[in-house]
Amino acid sequence: MIKFEFSKIKVLDFNNQFASDEQCMAFLANEKWKEGYICKKCGNDNYCSGKTPHSRRCTKCKHDESATAHTMFHRCKIPVHEAFKIAYEVCSLPDISIANLSEKLKIRHMTCWKLKNKIMECLEESRKSEVRSQKSEIRN
Ligand SMILES: [Zn+2]
Repeated sequence: MIKFEFSKIKVLDFNNQFASDEQCMAFLANEKWKEGYICKKCGNDNYCSGKTPHSRRCTKCKHDESATAHTMFHRCKIPVHEAFKIAYEVCSLPDISIANLSEKLKIRHMTCWKLKNKIMECLEESRKSEVRSQKSEIRN
């Protein structure tokens, strides 16, 4: 799972930078493949553009990976830029209540609840893996 450092972005910048799905997808693709593309299925590093905007398709096995796959925005039921807003709020204020979140963003309670859980899980997971890598650094 890929973690995004939303908490470092200022509110104004955030609103400009992620106003549309297109901008969010471009950001996700950029972040997830910033160290280069490698096919998750066969390990090939050649790709062409896939079916959806910013997805990448392996030239060897034709596996198509969307920009949201393996991120907290995978299979999200709402537009990605709305999910980004939830993620941004949750990263900035992890203790925000679902009621406040829903009220502030005008997004359904259930949607906020589901996505917040997913985001917290993702943050927890990356926190654990950071601890793990720190421990292995100490051992080495
Ligand atoms: Zn492949």
